[in-house]
Amino acid sequence: MTAATTLDRVRHHLVGLRMPRALEALDHTVRQLEQGTISAVEALDILLAEEFTIREARRVKAALQMARLTTVKTIAGFDFAFQPSLDRNRILTLAQLGFVDRCEVLHLLGPPGTGKSHLALALGVEAVKAGRSVYFTTLAEIVASLAKAEREGTLRDRIRVLCRPALLIVDEIGYLPVIDGGGNLFFQLVNARYERGAMILTSNRGFVEWGEVFGDPVVATALLDRLLHHAVVVQIEGASYRLRQHAALIPENSMVRPSTSHQPNPPRRRGRSPKDRSNDPHTG
Ligand code: ADP
Ligand code: MG
Repeated sequence: MTAATTLDRVRHHLVGLRMPRALEALDHTVRQLEQGTISAVEALDILLAEEFTIREARRVKAALQMARLTTVKTIAGFDFAFQPSLDRNRILTLAQLGFVDRCEVLHLLGPPGTGKSHLALALGVEAVKAGRSVYFTTLAEIVASLAKAEREGTLRDRIRVLCRPALLIVDEIGYLPVIDGGGNLFFQLVNARYERGAMILTSNRGFVEWGEVFGDPVVATALLDRLLHHAVVVQIEGASYRLRQHAALIPENSMVRPSTSHQPNPPRRRGRSPKDRSNDPHTG
């Protein structure tokens, strides 16, 4: 068999295997090979890397869309110098995603503009790149979607779907009051994901204020019981990045430090086996 027919077969296989980038790079790579500037193994490496890179980029793009991580923020784009209360190494360790594999809950707490959403999105992007499934939403959105499913009699299915992502990010807990019965619906989701999937939650309110946020102290206690069991709490205390250029115009006391109520105040877990889970926070 001549080199030309072998090359034709390679082309044919690349088409059959749907490897258009490798096919495109084939002629140039073969030329380099003939000129002796690369070895056979290097030629293989070039062709496979070309195809892999484009596929990986396509996969990440689609997965980011699926995850609804449309405003892409990165860890590299986070200015740690602006937020000295934040331990950079701690965030870099979280970006290694051990907490996702351990099905833990990461709480990002702090006043508005301190980078909670930025970090949640950036960690979501890291997870997508590493091949984990992610879904980003806000508390208001997820509660509305659960309420709609309940009205339509499809709550169980909706909860099942929301249990699929390895990492569920729920942004903006505490900005808007939760709709009537919303706390109970959110509890059902949290309970279903408990010890089965990781979450990132962001909030501008301390845990002691969750009773107010969810309009029901019993639901809030039951939620925190699950959400603080295998949890990492990152408290950001500092000024708003959004307002940094206008610092001089903002009254001193509204710029700084959250109140002490933002300090994590994890309720002690009662001695209950993880299997003994009820769907009603008032009894669980
Ligand atoms: P929060 O969710 O805490 O209210 P965001 O994460 O939405 O705040 O931050 C507000 C804006 O400022 C976003 O555009 C975000 O990317 C940016 N930002 C916040 N903190 C930083 C930071 N330390 N470095 C770079 N950008 C930041
Ligand atoms: Mg935010």
